[in-house]
Amino acid sequence: MDKNNRDTRKYAREMDKADRLSSFRDRFYKKEGQLYMDGNSLGLCSLDAEEAILRVLNEWKERGIGVWTEPDPPLFTYHDYLAGMLAPLIGAEAEEVTIHANTTVNIHTCIATFYKPTEKRYKILVDKLNFPTDLYAVEGQIKLKGLDPRECMKMVESREGNLLNEADIVAAMSDDVALILLPSVLYRSGQLLDLFSITQEAHRRGIVIGWDLSHSIGAVPHRFDKVQPDFAVWCNYKYMNGGPGTSAGLYINKQHFSLDAGLPGWHGNKYETQFQLNTQFEKAEYAGGWQTGTQPVISMAAIEGSLKIYQEAGIENLRQKSLRLTGYLMQLIDSKLEQYGFSIINPREDAQRGGHVALVHEEALRINEALKAAGVVPDFRFPNVIRLAPVPLYTSFEDVYELVERIVDIMDHKKYEAYEKKIGLIA
Ligand SMILES: *Cc1c(COP(=O)(O)O)cnc(C)c1O
Repeated sequence: MDKNNRDTRKYAREMDKADRLSSFRDRFYKKEGQLYMDGNSLGLCSLDAEEAILRVLNEWKERGIGVWTEPDPPLFTYHDYLAGMLAPLIGAEAEEVTIHANTTVNIHTCIATFYKPTEKRYKILVDKLNFPTDLYAVEGQIKLKGLDPRECMKMVESREGNLLNEADIVAAMSDDVALILLPSVLYRSGQLLDLFSITQEAHRRGIVIGWDLSHSIGAVPHRFDKVQPDFAVWCNYKYMNGGPGTSAGLYINKQHFSLDAGLPGWHGNKYETQFQLNTQFEKAEYAGGWQTGTQPVISMAAIEGSLKIYQEAGIENLRQKSLRLTGYLMQLIDSKLEQYGFSIINPREDAQRGGHVALVHEEALRINEALKAAGVVPDFRFPNVIRLAPVPLYTSFEDVYELVERIVDIMDHKKYEAYEKKIGLIA
């Protein structure tokens, strides 16, 4: 089919007809006429998530304290159950995964576990483009060791402001670097790094390396059986659709199960002796040993519902559809939006991009407001980026087509000029 034919609604509908994942859309709460392109910030609620939450709520109603041990699965070990469902998404073993706290706390526990600065190796390598909380946590951990972040935090810079160059990352792995923390997918530009080669380069130099998968988990399959990083963290409310503020994810490579947990707590104790409530902590020898205290199991139930959908749809199938949706979006942007001054800053190659398209425009802030008024849920990242995530579980090709039509309408009629240049509380 030639290019012009692909720029039509008819083509989008044909793509939807041929899409074997199209029915999953009906498992999500979607507003009629709304184009939800923000699943990389907060995924939508599914019927499955709702059902799981109500089931757990009911268990609590009926059983009181029995909620911890009587249901199937018992909620006392619910994180183990969820880890078993989630591990295949990243190619890890179930015992290497646990569900716990939030991403920031999990970074703290990992750095506190793995960062052992010596006279010669005392730096933590991070990148300038990472989500700020990751950098705050690293800085805090360096200070806790009584060290100076200005000396101990080494930043990989971006050459042009949006992307990282993998050669620059490798070149920064000097002899004084003890630990590396990097994002798998950059939250603004959507760049996907090569986890395998970067991890290999780090290990070749004796450096511990961990990944923040917040922007790839549930969108990009990982093969941790091959990558073999030391640790990883992620949140479960973006592509994972686990609900606002649900517990995050933590991966500890099984080679490290015998290490002390950085932030020990009674839920990391071996099950056999946990309720003996001894003053001596006995850490469990699997990722669950990094648990701290009692978990918010009601909200965690949403993750179970969502993982059921992942098991049915298959992460590889979802990745293929995601690449086609974002590819289609980029093609429409190229042919219909370039004339209005938009440009795409995410990498074009499939192997180097995650689940969203990052669009730059000098009027991005006001265009983002006009998009909201036009029934689109986009998101804006300071100072000039609009992120658009056509999530494969609930976005159709026609949605993508319609999205670009709405942008064209906003630009043709300069509708963004009706808005002020002001950022809201949650951009
Ligand atoms: C979303 C995101 C987080 C979120 O952190 P929380 O502590 O779970 O709120 C952290 N890091 C990155 C890279 C993210 O994309």
